[in-house]
Amino acid sequence: MDRVRIERLLRREQEVFARRNPRSQALAQRAQSHLPGGVPMPWMTRYAGPFPLFLSWAQGARVQDVDGHTYLDFALGDTGAMTGHSPGAVVTELQARLLQGLTAMLPTEDALWVAEELSQRFGLPFWQFTLSATDANRAALRIARAVTGRPKVLVFHGCYHGTVDEAFVALEGGIPRSRKGNLGPPVDPLLTTKVVEWNDPQALEGALAEKDVAAVLTEPVLTNVGIVHPAPGFLEMLRSLTRKYGTLLVLDETHTLCAGPGGCTARFHLEPDLLTLGKALGSGVPIGAYGLSREVAEAYAELLRGPHADTAGVGGTLAANAFSLRAARLTLERVLTEESFARMEALGERFQAGVEAVIRQAGLPWHVTRLGGRVEYLFRPEAAENGTQALEGQDPLLDPFIHLFLLNRGVLLTPFHNMALMSPATTEAMVDRHTELFAEAVASL
Ligand code: PMP
Repeated sequence: MDRVRIERLLRREQEVFARRNPRSQALAQRAQSHLPGGVPMPWMTRYAGPFPLFLSWAQGARVQDVDGHTYLDFALGDTGAMTGHSPGAVVTELQARLLQGLTAMLPTEDALWVAEELSQRFGLPFWQFTLSATDANRAALRIARAVTGRPKVLVFHGCYHGTVDEAFVALEGGIPRSRKGNLGPPVDPLLTTKVVEWNDPQALEGALAEKDVAAVLTEPVLTNVGIVHPAPGFLEMLRSLTRKYGTLLVLDETHTLCAGPGGCTARFHLEPDLLTLGKALGSGVPIGAYGLSREVAEAYAELLRGPHADTAGVGGTLAANAFSLRAARLTLERVLTEESFARMEALGERFQAGVEAVIRQAGLPWHVTRLGGRVEYLFRPEAAENGTQALEGQDPLLDPFIHLFLLNRGVLLTPFHNMALMSPATTEAMVDRHTELFAEAVASL
């Protein structure tokens, strides 16, 4: 592929973007004075355009920016809005809770309802609540260290679990390193964490055999470096090796919930010791959750006995608040249902088939992968087997070009990679519109 041509096309899309979005540009300039880097969160500088679009409203699977352009939204807040934006079935009733108190340091029946429902779905009997998936992961790791009396955590190269200090490690040329960009780590993360490649049972066993690892923290299918599926037998191997060496298995289902009502855990009959969730659980209202097996919960309860449960290092004043838990209850009851997941999966299949056909017709060395209603295309011929291969499939020119080409024509993909997520509000026509534009982008190359 002609790189000079891609560069020229990218520049053209950047110019179109700047011309199309004068209001966002003006806000981005104004933001330089009071928001570091001109954004309220650093990752917002990573969009493909020269400045971020400022949001005006979002509804269902559509968002509108302040310049009045409407987009078909396949980013869905990077899963926070997998339910579709502001689903009526949730927000209408949630308004009642707004008038009944939002946070009171007291449990509500909704907390119990949500715990019962999550137990049904994921098989873990005990649940606790946080305000984010990050915080659920932090708590899960603390509990795992406390229960096992071991200091270390193991993660896979290419993982992302939120701003969890222990997970900010990577392999560079096979050597473990603090992840690039890791800002002010409390200690060198190599002191706390081992990192190995996904789908490498030998490396995994080597690391676990030292019996100093409290927990393996992983997604059951990697979704943050493209979608990287486990090789046949790898998840079973992961479970048996963690059991063999006395390490707890923490599955982060924040993204992989897209595989079904009980995530990959239910779909593939997995047996984690702890499980973490967040993002979509409250239809965008901040909430995270972590589930504990009976054994872990009993050991944890023992450790919490006494007067120091408020200084255990897990929790937060607003965690498990009444509003978040009502949002989670309504979301689980009315939106993230069996029927919705079936619909999202069918749309995901349609999206994948569309992209696949374009790639095949153009004879490109690219591929597309999927997990339930989550689809991703990557610029390498075969599906990646680990983080290193997946990272090699990213392209510093093609990635922003595709994103901007789509954005300038009304389609929003998840930033940082070419991921598309379906929601119950997504339609076949929206999926087909993406396919059409993807074909146009490819033709223009
Ligand atoms: N787990 C996974 C798998 C994630 O992808 C992310 C965020 N992308 C998180 C946890 C953290 O979520 P949050 O930033 O909402 O805490």
